[in-house]
Amino acid sequence: MAFLGTAVWRVFGYRHPLGPLCRARCYSVQSEFTTEKSVPYAKTLKQEDGLSGPTKPLPRAADAVVIGGGSLGCQTLYHLCKMGMTNVVLLERDRLTAGTTWHTAGLLWQLRPSDTEVELLAHTRRVVSSELEAETGLETGWIQNGGLFIASNKQRLDEYKRLMSLGKVYGIESHVLSPAETKELYPLMNVKDLYGTLYVPKDGTMDPAGTCTTLSRAATARGAMVIENCPVTGIQVQTDHMGVRRVKAVETDFGTIETPCVVNCAGVWATKLGKMVGVNVPLIAMHHAYVVTERIEGIQNMPNVRDHDASVYLRLQGDALSVGGYEQNPIFWDEVSDKFAFSLFNLDWDVFMQHIEGAINRVPALEQTGIKSTVCGPESFTADHKPLMGEAPEVRGFFLGCGFNSAGMMLGGGCGKELAHWIIHGRPEKDMYGYDIRRFHHSLTNNNRWIRERSHESYAKNYSPPKQLQCALA
Ligand SMILES: Cc1cc2nc3c(=O)[nH]c(=O)nc-3n(C[C@H](O)[C@H](O)[C@H](O)COP(=O)(O)OP(=O)(O)OC[C@H]3O[C@@H](n4cnc5c(N)ncnc54)[C@H](O)[C@@H]3O)c2cc1C
Repeated sequence: MAFLGTAVWRVFGYRHPLGPLCRARCYSVQSEFTTEKSVPYAKTLKQEDGLSGPTKPLPRAADAVVIGGGSLGCQTLYHLCKMGMTNVVLLERDRLTAGTTWHTAGLLWQLRPSDTEVELLAHTRRVVSSELEAETGLETGWIQNGGLFIASNKQRLDEYKRLMSLGKVYGIESHVLSPAETKELYPLMNVKDLYGTLYVPKDGTMDPAGTCTTLSRAATARGAMVIENCPVTGIQVQTDHMGVRRVKAVETDFGTIETPCVVNCAGVWATKLGKMVGVNVPLIAMHHAYVVTERIEGIQNMPNVRDHDASVYLRLQGDALSVGGYEQNPIFWDEVSDKFAFSLFNLDWDVFMQHIEGAINRVPALEQTGIKSTVCGPESFTADHKPLMGEAPEVRGFFLGCGFNSAGMMLGGGCGKELAHWIIHGRPEKDMYGYDIRRFHHSLTNNNRWIRERSHESYAKNYSPPKQLQCALA
């Protein structure tokens, strides 16, 4: 069995301290991936029955076709139906959640330094913690164990105080705790180097399979169709008498669906769907990972922890923890494979190690704790660390709901609702300019090198020390 402390030693040849880990390095690998590893969820929707071909016959026409059955596709479908557009179809290449969603850490923090984002997160929380259950009678798997933001300097604590004030406006309960109060709440935590913490009792964790099945059940009950095992192979576009290019139909090997509206919620595959209609989708796929520990005595019921200065999060996983973060030197996935479903990459310990020192410092019991499994999967990142949403300027009726920068579970409900509003009413309800695909000039969405370099930079910066603090609280 590997121990977290031993892993430090194994990679760097000495135990403590680790020394500077800011080697700016970009990998570009032909990754091997596997379906053998397990994620720490009791249930995934992985197909066990060898079923092939679509799970339902395709309709001839629909008002909208959503492509992709992950967090964003399911949320968008559900909200379209709730807003009254029920002649809608979701097409998923494999089974629901098969891309990134099935192995997410699923953390939902309610506080971010943007009023719009606070509202988007609040909506997701409302959907998964109460609305869906009230509507379907099914549990989504929401766990409300609270969230704890760690401040190891005054600047960070001041920022958290500002977050608390913003939260108050939106009725989000939060408390600034002293190191002693933090120790009382989380006895296994090292608080010697703490300035204080921000405790948000109603933060929690979403379950990917539970969330997506419940969303799809609620949508189908309102008339939507969810068709799995049905990859989209082409999108037809026609030019109208004004010379405007418009979506006409979606093609699959099992039939064609006529539609004026396509919603690209295909995660890291969204660039491929964009190419089918000549739309550049400026996102990049990267490896993103966490490890799941063996049992830790006394960890049960603790809140999830985000230590921005150490670039690490600790997510409660029953009686264990998942440990993850954002690396300075992430690995790109250049050759996004169509065969990748319920799959994972092998973890590169050399890259991942930079999270371990911070994790062990925060919860010293981790040093002697074994690692049960590693979870390393693909996720989309964008140049400014914000999602890509709205109608592509090149093709009318071609909408984007992708590029979620490791926040697609917690933003899924809010963004699914805005996207549905955008499709039905021609514009979102909230000020979504920061997420609108039109914020990027065409010359930039075409520039693959720019997208790659900026996405890498914004990924790494997302968790770096306080000088970037205004944009650091993801
Ligand atoms: C290790 C890790 C930890 C994370 N932790 C968190 C977290 O704590 N909180 C959080 O909010 N987010 C987290 N995220 C991010 C979050 O999981 C993702 O942002 C989210 O799951 C993305 O959902 P999606 O619907 O955009 O993409 P996906 O889940 O990838 O869904 C896209 C779907 O499209 C399908 N598809 C692709 N091509 C086609 C086609 N041609 N035809 C039909 N279907 C197609 C795919 O099969 C796939 O199911 C994490 C991600 C990773 C990797």
